[in-house]
Amino acid sequence: MENCIFCKIIKGEIPSTVVYEDDMVFAFNDINPIAPVHVLIIPKNHMSSVMEINLSNENYIAEIHKAANKIAEKLGIAESGFRLITNCGKDAGQTVFHLHYHLLGGKVLGWG
Ligand code: AMP
Ligand code: ZN
Repeated sequence: MENCIFCKIIKGEIPSTVVYEDDMVFAFNDINPIAPVHVLIIPKNHMSSVMEINLSNENYIAEIHKAANKIAEKLGIAESGFRLITNCGKDAGQTVFHLHYHLLGGKVLGWG
């Protein structure tokens, strides 16, 4: 996607602090962290939100979860715990329309 900020981050056209990368998944630190660990995990294939997941791209979701597992181990929050969330659409406050999961941890996270 030409004007997608996260596609540009994957291609290195916009700088990011890369935390993890493999064939299908890319992960980098959120520019505006809300927790000591705040990593964005994204599929290398553009899809705008969970509403675009289907049989042809569902493999990316498993790979994102496996990447989250590895990143949590690497950043030392596998034992203490973490939250993995994705915002979808207006009411959830989604601002970037390339599917992304927020991996949050490093402190006790509130809810609500
Ligand atoms: P969401 O509100 O779920 O769509 O989350 C979008 C996230 O992307 C926000 O937490 C932003 O801080 C983050 N973000 C936007 N631009 C960048 C960027 N260039 N590098 C890193 N994180 C970004
Ligand atoms: Zn994109």
